[in-house]
Amino acid sequence: MARIRLDGVTKNYGSVTALQKLDLDIRDREFMVFLGPSGCGKTTTLNIIAGLEEISEGDIWFDDRKVTFIPPHKREIAMVFQSYALYPQKSVFDNIAFGLRLRGEDQASVDAKVKAAAEQLEITHLLDRKPHQLSGGQRQRVALGRALVRQPSVFLMDEPLSNLDAALRVSMRSLIKKLHLSMGTTFVYVTHDQAEALTLADRITVMRDGVVQQLDTPDVIYNRPANRFVASFLGSPQMNFVEGELVDDPGGPTFVRGDFQLAVDPALAAGQGGRKVVLGLRAEDAILTGEGSGLAGAVTLVSPLGSEQHIDLSVAGVDLVVRASKDQSLAIGDRLSLAVEPARLHLFDATSEQRLA
Ligand code: ATP
Repeated sequence: MARIRLDGVTKNYGSVTALQKLDLDIRDREFMVFLGPSGCGKTTTLNIIAGLEEISEGDIWFDDRKVTFIPPHKREIAMVFQSYALYPQKSVFDNIAFGLRLRGEDQASVDAKVKAAAEQLEITHLLDRKPHQLSGGQRQRVALGRALVRQPSVFLMDEPLSNLDAALRVSMRSLIKKLHLSMGTTFVYVTHDQAEALTLADRITVMRDGVVQQLDTPDVIYNRPANRFVASFLGSPQMNFVEGELVDDPGGPTFVRGDFQLAVDPALAAGQGGRKVVLGLRAEDAILTGEGSGLAGAVTLVSPLGSEQHIDLSVAGVDLVVRASKDQSLAIGDRLSLAVEPARLHLFDATSEQRLA
């Protein structure tokens, strides 16, 4: 069992408040990802769970055990860092075996566990090498091996893939996901990469300036972002934002910014005429057709990406980036119509930036 609870945790570094009264409940066996921009407090939170940082206020619990003042080596955690942190003079085998030997395990048990981990991570052929004889991806596998042989109740990872190239990151992501499924252990993973968060997490905690913005499943975070910040942080290209106001038309509530007018979901916006809002439109939710029924626009840029295209549009005085299929034939200057299903639009209050309920 390893449920982790942070209860009103504040962390000050001198006059800098890195975390402000943070409450978090990480479920047993969950894959929890902390996501946010640089400096938002992700690493501080992970280090507090590990016991590497003292907290200024609040408490931390592992199941029913208060661990606020328990040192790291008594917390049954394993940690994997971006920098791998391998011992350069030791072989891969000895690096992986290190924690087991420290614990006083006998040679036969050490041999069996190191070999099993090496097989799982497909690094058996590298066991005699030193870290400097390995690629970045191989070093990261060794770091994972060293952590997983200890069979921790909590696996903590701080941006473990950020030193790897794009293709390797994708394959290591799958490996980490499989490890989680096979180990049945609580994973807490820090990243600023939204793709890692969306693919790995059972739940994501989105942070900003030491404050949780939203904690939910990837599906909810992506499809029902709690505020404009969360909406802008997930999605590629970034969600389009248009400032305007709601108008109660006889035909139903409408978002209006000059000639840019779109019907919006009555469940969100009925009876709120005059309210200043920010409309959010994801690139993939725009429906582009030949000139006709929707809002008239023109193509200002076409960016082919192989599997799809990103299209810059100017629509009724508003600039948008939308996604089109690779088969759609579009060129700069083409005139077209934009339509969007009302249920696909996001609305945020212009002042608080919170999602309309
Ligand atoms: P990154 O993605 O860049 O690693 P992060 O989200 O992990 O960022 P933290 O490293 O947790 O952010 O830092 C949170 C805040 O605390 C930042 O404002 C940072 O400057 C500050 N901070 C972190 N460590 C210290 C320290 N030892 N002394 C002073 N301030 C610190």
